[in-house]
Amino acid sequence: MAYGSARAFASAFRAIGLEAEPTPPSDNRTRELGAKYTSGDECYPAKVTVGDFMKVLERPETDPERVALFMPTAQGPCRFGQYAPYLRQVLDASGYANVEILSPTSQNAYDGLGTLAKPFVRTGWRALLCADLLEKLLLMNRPYEERRGDAEAEYEESLADLCATLETTSAEPGAQLKALREAMVRSRDRFRKMSGRRDGRQPLIGIVGEIFCRLNTFSNENLVVCLEQYGAEAWVSDIVEWIWYTNSEHFRKLKLEGRLWTAEALGAWVRKRVQKHDEHVLSEPFAEDFRGREEPDIYEVLECARPYLPREGAFGEMVLNVGKIVYLAKKGAAGIIDISPFTCMNGIVCEAIYPRISRDLGGIPIRNFYFDGTQGDLDRDLGVYMELARSYQKNKK
Ligand code: SF4
Repeated sequence: MAYGSARAFASAFRAIGLEAEPTPPSDNRTRELGAKYTSGDECYPAKVTVGDFMKVLERPETDPERVALFMPTAQGPCRFGQYAPYLRQVLDASGYANVEILSPTSQNAYDGLGTLAKPFVRTGWRALLCADLLEKLLLMNRPYEERRGDAEAEYEESLADLCATLETTSAEPGAQLKALREAMVRSRDRFRKMSGRRDGRQPLIGIVGEIFCRLNTFSNENLVVCLEQYGAEAWVSDIVEWIWYTNSEHFRKLKLEGRLWTAEALGAWVRKRVQKHDEHVLSEPFAEDFRGREEPDIYEVLECARPYLPREGAFGEMVLNVGKIVYLAKKGAAGIIDISPFTCMNGIVCEAIYPRISRDLGGIPIRNFYFDGTQGDLDRDLGVYMELARSYQKNKK
């Protein structure tokens, strides 16, 4: 998750009475431990997450008997489904057999949280929605701030406000939603007070890619900030996109199996309605602020992907990346960057398709940036890329 999402998600756990915290910021120790406990064949996010978890466990104050690590899982074409079983293996082999792994699955839209599910799922969903909204505010304002650090300061204050609201408000759905909406309005107003110099000339760069690497600034070497230093504004695909996608996959499978008229399908339909309602209530205060930057419905993304990767034949992030690129181009993006871990199966499939999408979209520059924790000259590569994006933007006009 992104930094803000992880903090808000931990607050959602605390809201239902569980002690929870995000893993501390990744650093060199993360890399050392990741390298120690993985073989080198795993994807980079596996190395970073294992490293971060082992860092928590090696802290003298950690009592392994009281620790559960949150690592969701998913069915799909790539290796993500192996992360939780692999982590289990690492823990067992390293003397941490008593450490639990909490691992809900995307197959049933993360319904498998057991008795925790009922109070947690709605609070967790709202936490992620709000964290995405704050992240969007940050990305839309930071490139235009007059004093460096202003947008970050507003963001930190808003995030702290969100976490405190989650933790101190009753988990009763109506009261919670009202309090969260008020927190969102306060955040919106904080950012509205910022003076900016948005003049429409800054190229808008869409960011897609592998979910962890795209959102985890340590893993992607803070690519977005670097991009902003070149005068760009970034539009990063958010985390709830994935949740909408897993919901839509759940419905697709129910339909395929002829189970659309079952209690399970009815439950999924009710959950979707509730989630849509929450999304509407929480995002509505930003209607003005996000004009032109509206997040698409997941079915629109999937339809945009259809000519290249129909959802019935391809799964996961590759479909979302392809569809989102088409959508972002329609919304005026001057370029697209795909952030993926080195050897990422989704990234490789997408890279093969991007030239055709670029051609179909009038030559929009689409570039993959792969990360594996080794040094590259990101700054130089982004500088070259931004020249392409500026030239595309100029010619497009
Ligand atoms: S999406 Fe890519 S990096 Fe992530 S688990 Fe799958 S193959 Fe690995």
